[in-house]
Amino acid sequence: MNSYDVAVIGSGPGGYVAAIRCAQLGMKTAIIEKYATLGGTCLNVGCIPSKALLDSSHHYEDAIKHFEEHGIDIPGEVKVNLKQMIARKQAVVDQTTGGIDFLMKKNTIDVYQGLGSFKDATHITISGTETIEIEAKNTIIATGSKPSSLPFIAIDKERVITSTEALKLTEIPKHLIVIGGGVIGLELGQVYKRLGAEVTVIEYMDRIIPTMDAGLSKELNKVLKKQKFKIETSHKVKSVERKGNEVIVKADNKKGEELTFTGDYCLVSVGRKPYTDGLHAEAAGVKITERGQIEVNAHLQTSAKNIYAIGDVVKGAMLAHKAEEEGVFVAETIAGQKPHIDYNLIPGVVYTWPEVASVGKTEEQLQEAKVDYKVGSFPMRALGRSRASMDLDGFVKILADKTTDEILGVHMIGARAADMIAEAVVAMEFRASAEDVSRMSHAHPTFTEAIKEAALAATDNRALHI
Ligand code: FAD
Ligand code: NAD
Repeated sequence: MNSYDVAVIGSGPGGYVAAIRCAQLGMKTAIIEKYATLGGTCLNVGCIPSKALLDSSHHYEDAIKHFEEHGIDIPGEVKVNLKQMIARKQAVVDQTTGGIDFLMKKNTIDVYQGLGSFKDATHITISGTETIEIEAKNTIIATGSKPSSLPFIAIDKERVITSTEALKLTEIPKHLIVIGGGVIGLELGQVYKRLGAEVTVIEYMDRIIPTMDAGLSKELNKVLKKQKFKIETSHKVKSVERKGNEVIVKADNKKGEELTFTGDYCLVSVGRKPYTDGLHAEAAGVKITERGQIEVNAHLQTSAKNIYAIGDVVKGAMLAHKAEEEGVFVAETIAGQKPHIDYNLIPGVVYTWPEVASVGKTEEQLQEAKVDYKVGSFPMRALGRSRASMDLDGFVKILADKTTDEILGVHMIGARAADMIAEAVVAMEFRASAEDVSRMSHAHPTFTEAIKEAALAATDNRALHI
């Protein structure tokens, strides 16, 4: 029987990063993945394919809506070749997951394909083409998550679909009904909107992206409506019924009136749930909470002291970079180090266009905690860079402590916000004040000048270009 210092179950961004860090620290490491390709949700059916389709559909939208104004004439009709678009996405996925194979080899990590199940706290059975058993002094559970649904919805994976199917449709929906105005619904909704579908988003809460700062929800709502999205907030979906090629969704609005939405596809994007099927956690003494998450302490250690859990299968934001930080954290903890993660500084991004990005506290959280704060805001449209690329929507908002000027939260919506948020994370990790950021040179012309201007506005209400 092969024996390891560490076995990692699940090869998503949490698991494969944990395995690499364990190997870097000199531990004999194995990784177990039930699917044929490594990389988990993120690389196979999540972050990477969704961004590939967002990029392709963005190019198409630019070609039909903006090229002419830029002075680029395309003779003849611009057409979508969905088959090629999906094939390119798959090529990106294949190349990226293949890259993880390479990283495993480079770090001499043993890869096992098959379902990993605990026999006890130090033995794991792997059921693949054959069934084998390995021994591990420590195990890291990184089994991730799966799409969740509503009890009355039958996902048929053809017309009533989750994100996984939405990433490989063979036709452009005529009318895509999206249940859930969160990250997946808006990102994938925008892909098909750009390709020509009518898109209706039905959201239970009173605003889309309801966990983000309310200012961002409001601006994104406005921009998406300009892009001809139909957005129905405060709607409670009651039934989803498939009739032939039609999907009929019934929902109650705020007044309790029943509305009927008829489309040809319905994307159910109401969140994801932790995945532990087949793991036999109980055999190792690992407790699972009522919400289905693996229970962990502050060291991400489960109720079995040699077993840790990370990523989507434990509490916290279901984000690839959160899972990665936790993978490194646990590897270093097993190696006897004392790592740290500041969960307040894990950024959140929505890759619509304009992009939405946030880090730290929202205004609502600061108000609830009764923190005295000040706000500095700057509109993207006042930047030369925004006018050059015609990306005028959005703003950067900096929230700083009224007394100390320390930055407590940064919320932005605009072109390339996903990349710009890194500056805010660095500033906040170093506990910068708004004035610190306002006194740093930002290259001109860039979108990041909005961060400097918002910092100036927060410091002393002295933005320069407005
Ligand atoms: P996962 O990536 O889910 O990996 C778990 C792996 O474990 C899977 O491969 C599974 O097959 C395997 N497994 C499970 N049980 C067993 C077992 N018993 N034995 C063997 N293997 C097992 N996050 C971002 O940060 N940015 C984004 O842009 C982003 N976009 C997304 C887009 C979509 C459409 C979706 C669905 C998700 C997106 N996410 C994004 C979320 C991101 O994918 C997850 O947060 C991330 O993948 C979690 O990583 P993980 O390692 O915890 O688990
Ligand atoms: P989400 O939590 O982002 O959004 C779900 C939305 O559905 C929420 O707005 C919620 O209020 C709404 N909702 C819940 N029940 C409803 C109901 N009965 N009727 C109507 N609306 C309802 O979840 P998601 O979009 O499914 O994404 C799942 C996870 O994947 C998220 O945790 C997210 O972090 C991650 N993800 C991240 C990215 C990214 O980082 N860019 C992209 C995609 C997914």
